[in-house]
Amino acid sequence: MTQHILITGGTSGIGKAIALRAASAGMAVSITGLEAETDISDVLSSLKQAGAPYCAYFSIDLADGDATRAMVNAAAQAYGGIDILVNNAGIQHVAPIDDFDVAAWDKVIAVNLSAAFHTTAIALPLMREAGFGRIINIASVHGLVASAQKAAYVAAKHGIIGLTKTTALETAKQTITCNAICPGWVRTPLVEAQIIARAKAAGRSAEEEARLLVSEKQPSETFVQPEDIADMVLFLAAPSAHAITGSQFVMDGGWTAQ
Ligand code: NAD
Repeated sequence: MTQHILITGGTSGIGKAIALRAASAGMAVSITGLEAETDISDVLSSLKQAGAPYCAYFSIDLADGDATRAMVNAAAQAYGGIDILVNNAGIQHVAPIDDFDVAAWDKVIAVNLSAAFHTTAIALPLMREAGFGRIINIASVHGLVASAQKAAYVAAKHGIIGLTKTTALETAKQTITCNAICPGWVRTPLVEAQIIARAKAAGRSAEEEARLLVSEKQPSETFVQPEDIADMVLFLAAPSAHAITGSQFVMDGGWTAQ
C-alpha cells in the first residue's frame, strides 16, 4: 500500500531532499512551505518525476497554530490519512540574549517547536486509527548543545527533543514511533544566510567563510548533505524500525563528540 508522507518545510534544503527521497521510494508526498504554489511548481514536478504517485502542496505560515492544525487535517483528508509526519520546517535568528528581538524569539519558538506540537496533536489520532505511524522531528545538534547568540533556536531544538520523548512514551504500546534527527552543519539556504552575514562582517569570501564555519564546530570539516538526512528519515520510517522510538540520531561529523 502506498504510504503518505507529510513534510513541513518541504520546499527547500533538507525538507526538499526528504520529499525527493520519499518520492523516489514511491510514496505519496505532501509538503508545506511559505511560498506561493506557482513559485514551487518545479519542486512539485520534480517530485512527480522522481516517482511520487501523488503530491500536494500547502502554503501556510506554521507560526499560526490553528492554520497548522487545519493543514494537517486537510492533508490527511485529501489523501486518506498520514503514515509519516516529518516536522522539518525551521528558522534561525542570531543575536545576543539581551539584544534578542522579542518578536523573533516568539517566531522561532512557534515555527521550530510549537508547530510540531500542533501537527503531532492532529496526526496522532489519525495514526492510531490507521494502526501505523512514524513521526520524525528534524532537530539539530543545537537540541543537544548550545551556541552563543542562538538562544531561541537552541531552546526550541532542546524542546523538540523533549517533545519527541514524550510523544514516544504516549505511543509506545502502539505501532507508532517518534524520533529526532540532529544534524550538524548542512549547507542549505538557512545556513547560507549565516555564511553571507559572517563573510560580510569579516570581509571574506563566502567560500572561505563556509570553510571556516564548518571547521569551527565539525571535526569532519565537511558539510552534512541533505540527502544523508533523507536516507535516515526513510530508515526510521521503515517497518523494521518499529523498536526505535524516543531516540536522537546525531549526524554531525563529530561536533557533539568533543
Ligand atoms: P531552509 O531554510 O532551506 O528551509 C526551511 C523550510 O521551512 C522552507 O521550506 C520554508 O518554506 C519553511 N518555513 C520557514 N519558515 C516557515 C514558516 N513560518 N511557516 C511555514 N514554513 C516555513 O532550511 P533547512 O536548513 O533545510 O532546515 C530544515 C530543518 O533542519 C530546520 O528545522 C533546521 O533547524 C534544521 N537543521 C538545519 C541545519 C542546517 O545546517 N541547515 C542543521 C541542523 C538542523
